[in-house]
Amino acid sequence: MADTLSDYDPAERRSTPLAIRLCETMPPEGLPLADYMRVCLLDPEHGYYNRRSVLGRDGDFITAPEISQAFGELIGLWAAVTWRQMGAPSAFDLIELGPGRGTLMADALRAAHRVPGFTSAVNLHLVEASPRMRELQRETLADCGVALAWADTICDDAPHAGSARPAIILANEFLDCLPIDQVRWKRGTDGAFDWSVRHVSVDKAELIDIWVPLLDGDPHRPLLPSNPPECAIVEFAHTAPVIAAVAARATVAPLAALFIDYGYGAGSSATGASGDTLQAVRAHAYEHPLTAPGLADLSAHVDFAALARDVARHGLAVDGPATQAEFLGRLGIVERAAKLMASNPGKAAAIEAGIARLIAPGGMGTRFKALGIRSPDLTRLPGL
Ligand code: SAH
Repeated sequence: MADTLSDYDPAERRSTPLAIRLCETMPPEGLPLADYMRVCLLDPEHGYYNRRSVLGRDGDFITAPEISQAFGELIGLWAAVTWRQMGAPSAFDLIELGPGRGTLMADALRAAHRVPGFTSAVNLHLVEASPRMRELQRETLADCGVALAWADTICDDAPHAGSARPAIILANEFLDCLPIDQVRWKRGTDGAFDWSVRHVSVDKAELIDIWVPLLDGDPHRPLLPSNPPECAIVEFAHTAPVIAAVAARATVAPLAALFIDYGYGAGSSATGASGDTLQAVRAHAYEHPLTAPGLADLSAHVDFAALARDVARHGLAVDGPATQAEFLGRLGIVERAAKLMASNPGKAAAIEAGIARLIAPGGMGTRFKALGIRSPDLTRLPGL
């Protein structure tokens, strides 16, 4: 897996339109890694999510809802049970963060439709920053039976602003594409150890990684481990605004959220350093994140322990994380697979293979985790 700094092979480098523009406009101090990620993923002209059909077998990577319809269906039933646990409110906001092609939501709504009263109570909100992805979602969800509405972020122009409706929030593989900062512990030229921050800069018209000293007053400093090994890297994901927006919403009405993503569950490591988990994926293969800006997906492991601590700080309850295999198993994925196979005998082998992939030990079944967040007075969320 070519996801560490040492794996950068300059021979592989591509002069993408975005690489050229970044080289021409690079500020003297370089771009903080988080800004580089944001531009690579969401630049209106050259951003990865705005340029290509990224998801699916023909794209760069495949996600759980694209592997098996059972994934979205079970999440739809999860949402319906959660809605009933909220007292089956006659109107609530169903919010999906980063809906991709809209497949998860289409499967979820179809499955949950069988629960009386659910569909007519749904106010659907899709939080999607990419206009290209919105088009795909509009196509997939054209016949889903509920009105579609979009917002760019859950934070500022969130659809829930001023709303006192209960909310159910779903997010699969959304947190992993939020920008991150990386901070490294290393001996400087003066021989003393200190922390520095990863930036992207330019040298001889090529993008390069540089490390700039961490300022004394930097807000990350108090959060850094006290006795790290040399070259330890600590990552900070920009999840705080998302969690703050979720928490703000929970102060006005009951709320339940489900975050599924790949990442580590029980703390980064004994040293408190996660290591470099930033990865670039293009055509189902890993490459260094500077190789082809705008043409590769960039993502990083989600630190579920840090996320859970942040949620708890806001006074919300946390359920899980459970591994994806545990979560889907408790929701009945095996039974759902049996039903799907019985009603599509010609596709039984493909259905079985898809579901096996979602729950594979050592693969998606354990690398992916499900974390529930809820208003403290709600009961524990299903499957967690
Ligand atoms: N949930 C989908 C897609 C995951 S890919 C699935 O499981 O198949 C990530 C999705 O999040 C894409 O739709 C991408 O355009 C969107 N996205 C990425 N960064 C975002 C951001 N900062 N704000 C809103 N949406 C974002």
